[in-house]
Amino acid sequence: MTNKHPFDDFGINLFSENVMKECLPHPIYMKWKTATRKEDALDRTTADAIAHAMKTWAMEKGATHFTHWFQPLTGSTAEKHDSFIEPGEYNQPISRFSGKSLIKGEGDASSFPSGGLRATFEARGYTYWDCTSPAFLRDNVLCIPTIFVSYNGETLDKKAPLLKSAEAISKQATRIVNLFKDKDIKQVNAMVGLEQEYFLIDKELYKQRKDLVHTGRTLFGSMPPKSMDIRGHYFGSIPNRVQAFMKDVDEELWKLGIYAKTEHNEVAPCQFEIAPLFIDANVAVDQNLIIMDVLKKKADKHGLACLLHEKPFQGVNGSGKHNNWSLVTDDGQNLLEPGDRPHENIRFLLFVCAIIEAVDTYPELLRMAASCYGNDYRLGADEAPPAVISICMGDELEIILEKLRNGEHELKNVVETQPYAIANLSYVPKDTSDRNRTSPFAFTGNKFEFRMVGSSRSASTTNIILNSIVADTLRKIADQLQEYKYIDDIRKKSLDICRDILQQHHRILFSKDGYSSEWLQEAEKRGLPNIPFYVDSIPSLINEKAIQMFERNGVYNKLELEARVDILFDEYRKSVKAEVLTILDISKKDFLPALVKEIKFYSDAQNSLGFKNEYYERKINFLVNLLNSLDEQYHTLKNKMMERNQYESSMEKAQYLNQEVLPQMHKLRHILDTIEEAVSSEQYPYPTYDDMFTSV
Ligand code: ADP
Ligand code: MG
Repeated sequence: MTNKHPFDDFGINLFSENVMKECLPHPIYMKWKTATRKEDALDRTTADAIAHAMKTWAMEKGATHFTHWFQPLTGSTAEKHDSFIEPGEYNQPISRFSGKSLIKGEGDASSFPSGGLRATFEARGYTYWDCTSPAFLRDNVLCIPTIFVSYNGETLDKKAPLLKSAEAISKQATRIVNLFKDKDIKQVNAMVGLEQEYFLIDKELYKQRKDLVHTGRTLFGSMPPKSMDIRGHYFGSIPNRVQAFMKDVDEELWKLGIYAKTEHNEVAPCQFEIAPLFIDANVAVDQNLIIMDVLKKKADKHGLACLLHEKPFQGVNGSGKHNNWSLVTDDGQNLLEPGDRPHENIRFLLFVCAIIEAVDTYPELLRMAASCYGNDYRLGADEAPPAVISICMGDELEIILEKLRNGEHELKNVVETQPYAIANLSYVPKDTSDRNRTSPFAFTGNKFEFRMVGSSRSASTTNIILNSIVADTLRKIADQLQEYKYIDDIRKKSLDICRDILQQHHRILFSKDGYSSEWLQEAEKRGLPNIPFYVDSIPSLINEKAIQMFERNGVYNKLELEARVDILFDEYRKSVKAEVLTILDISKKDFLPALVKEIKFYSDAQNSLGFKNEYYERKINFLVNLLNSLDEQYHTLKNKMMERNQYESSMEKAQYLNQEVLPQMHKLRHILDTIEEAVSSEQYPYPTYDDMFTSV
């Protein structure tokens, strides 16, 4: 028997470009290629040929069904399976997959959120093939990445706007690169690498925790005596069971053509991370959604539960999804790479300044895009960046930018002796930002790492916003530069533009400790917005500044933005409601009886003694007081929850929940945590934090 190479199966479940090259007639392949570059639309014959090849490829691997795999506004993925089977002429089963079925799907989309975009009389939504993201095979289903739009063409998903934003940034970045006339390029891709953090616990324990099952996080539970620092988990040896799980995950991802690369223990107990290699933003987001699904399914197979929530456990680190982002030309130049040649560096500085301006102009949007209700428990806590957006460029670059801001580039004087002195960055060490883990938005050598994003989120919104706001500043810059004909003038003007941007926006630069309380004060002095609660960042999508920016770049129209705001408030409301109902249920059905039993236990003990024991007395008093508090806080929460119905709009309801209901829920949690400490293990109805942390 020959030993199989571990990577022999790489990509076998991906209908990749190579597979297409191999199984399509060359002219058809070329037509597809042109379509992916958006130079021409796919015609019917080409679509038919591709569909047929796809079906044949998939069926040879055992597929029986296909699905238009799409990303509704819930942030997860959706699929409806159709089999290839059709009756033939003599009623014998034959397989069919037409170009039409590949390109367009229609169906009742009324069960997906649309924020009112779909009038009730037109419940249909349409899915259209995204030919830039490869189809893939999972189990017996051929999955075709698609966008999802309404009858009127408004986008109802997270993929279509991402594609639009990628186009916007490509267009503006290309204009600038070509102004520098290095070479003519056609396209600039936003490239994204997503690090995914997650927790694993034993599945049996998970099933016993109603809060985890219903809401994704623990709504009660206190930290075990052994704090996380003592465990030595971070980068420590990976437990065997987890190792086997990771191996399984990797193998599955490799088959899907995903370069799963890094994996290690994270800081908190039972916390891990997986990171694939970066790829263009659209595919990176697709891959991340696949990874999240694979993690969950494989965990289940290994008797584990994978928790993707931002903060499953209070008191230990939460999970993020670090969004590493850069801009790369179609001939492979990373525009965020400080180069060795001075003019590359002027271009580099120009792009960096465009990003600085974009982030300082739209910090609320970025804060919103990275967040969800669950992320509120993570941002500003333990290992996560605060809710204030700032950029860490690293000390060396900050010095250079500071000089630029002070106009120290005076090109005219410098040219004779020392051409473009300011822009000589060859001495800047590559990993220049010193791995500042406390910054939400850090330059890390040749890319920006946005660390605020929550682990459970689709990374789509983040990249839509990032692409759009940077496209917008790049457009302004390109407009200014295009008046100039000579390269020296363009370079000089570029440095002037950088100076102006830095003078206006340097307040966003901060390379020191982002976790310190001094920073929050300093940020306030600088006028940087601090939005501690996600719900308050949602309206930033529909302020005039944002609407105009999105419309200018062809990413969202006003209607689409309003719909999204509606959906986000709704989603928030539902998440909070699920938690409140769950904690109420648990309090009444589990904690209350446990407490009563415990009281009985001590009363019986007291009675059996036949005389008064002070300890028992104290204990019983304490427990009875707890019982009263539990009852009181339970009813207060229940009533506060009912009162939300006095509010009409989703927004008002969501704000009320945040301001009135959640603080009350936290009070009830505090009582539950006290009960956990007070009652004996025998009476305590749930697996504890310690049980779960030591379960893998
Ligand atoms: P860490 O941040 O944990 O040190 P790495 O620096 O290895 O991790 O990279 C994290 C992620 O960034 C990976 O997914 C990697 O592929 C991605 N990445 C690396 N270079 C780029 C780039 N130029 N653009 C976008 N992502 C990148
Ligand atoms: Mg990282």
